[in-house]
Amino acid sequence: MAHTTLMMIKPDAVENGHIGGILEKVTAAGFQIKALKLTQLSKNDVERFYEVHQERPFFGELVAFMSRGPIVAAVLEKENAVSDFRTLIGATNPAEAAEGTLRKLYATSTGENAVHGSDSDENAEIEAAFHFAGRERF
Ligand code: ATP
Ligand code: MG
Repeated sequence: MAHTTLMMIKPDAVENGHIGGILEKVTAAGFQIKALKLTQLSKNDVERFYEVHQERPFFGELVAFMSRGPIVAAVLEKENAVSDFRTLIGATNPAEAAEGTLRKLYATSTGENAVHGSDSDENAEIEAAFHFAGRERF
């Protein structure tokens, strides 16, 4: 059965010219793109998106980083999309990310780690609805 996940290509990877490289790896890994856009989050948008982390010491840094420039948001479809995409992106800290993963290839630090992937089917649907109207999803 096909499942969905929500990807963001974060501002660092967009600034560094990695949109094309990342989308190539994502589609080569068998994910189908069901929604896609270049957009910029406000500080308030980031505070809502990453609300679960609001008490963490890095929250202010995360809000500043994620709102500083454009991101790419996408809904991806594949069997076991959430867990397979987490495997493709690699560990949160790129120094711990496996060879060939998106964070190993494109991330520079734990804070600026190139790509987001949903952590559950439930959150994937909440995050997809956060970024896309129904008519933008296929
Ligand atoms: P994401 O949710 O963006 O896919 P993740 O699930 O691997 O990342 P989370 O624990 O959900 O990791 O943290 C969300 C984001 O907060 C991280 O991707 C990173 O940008 C930032 N972050 C997490 N831990 C730290 C830290 N110790 N120092 C700085 N930033 C951090
Ligand atoms: Mg997370």
